[in-house]
Amino acid sequence: MSCFTLPDTPEPLTLTDRPSGEDFSPLPHGLTLGDAVAVRAFQVQPGDLVVAMFSDGTGLHPTEHVPGPYPADPHTVSDCPCNGCEECDDLDSWTSAGHGRVADTGWRFACLAPAEDDEPCVIVLRNRPMAVIPAAVVAAAEAAEPPERMYGVTWSVDFDASSPEEAARLAHEQLKSYATDSLPPVLEVRGQGGRTTVIDLSNGEQTTIEPSPTYTRDQVRQAASAALARLHEFVDLGDELQSLGVGALLSLLDDPHSSYPYTGDEEEGR
Ligand SMILES: [Zn+2]
Ligand SMILES: [Zn+2]
Repeated sequence: MSCFTLPDTPEPLTLTDRPSGEDFSPLPHGLTLGDAVAVRAFQVQPGDLVVAMFSDGTGLHPTEHVPGPYPADPHTVSDCPCNGCEECDDLDSWTSAGHGRVADTGWRFACLAPAEDDEPCVIVLRNRPMAVIPAAVVAAAEAAEPPERMYGVTWSVDFDASSPEEAARLAHEQLKSYATDSLPPVLEVRGQGGRTTVIDLSNGEQTTIEPSPTYTRDQVRQAASAALARLHEFVDLGDELQSLGVGALLSLLDDPHSSYPYTGDEEEGR
């Protein structure tokens, strides 16, 4: 909970903690309500993130949290780009219900964001105190966020089954059980550079597996030639035996079960 005052009134505004229910999406980019400031609706700037409204009456000013905080795109109600939405229609009927209101509408109300998808315009009294996170603060938090990457997630369990189909069905049953089971699975998450992190979601334990080094065929050939040339200094192997040695080593490495994997020989015929 935090307290604000606006420069034009001594009355304090209280910003309660943001509700955590599923209707209230968390603030983006790691922002918190601690980043919010209080302004009147007409002072909201483009790009400010609108997070809450204070009651516009006098008194305690209880907070009305915005379920899905949105970046403001403020404009006057007379030049709303929305082509008619339920809020604008309501405002139109309110305006036409009283002669004196036509002139009032423009200075009484502001639209903070035009209608989008199924959401109507956000029309509020121009003087309504709002809690917003300034556009510059939002932009800085967004820029400071680590970039998103692609991760491959693998789940693996061994099943006793009489066919691949049966094993797949057993796996499917087990995957479904995670929706209700209190024990979440252990998952392997493969990040960039081949580094794999094994995460046990039930206790938060993490183990990182560094990728085993791989060598190109040329690197193996060079290392093998150098080793054989060194040997050649002591024993006369002859050129033919030397190249045979390199070939034998390379074919040993072709073994997919070899503990010395190498990569990068696709373009080379054998
Ligand atoms: Zn509208
Ligand atoms: Zn609008």
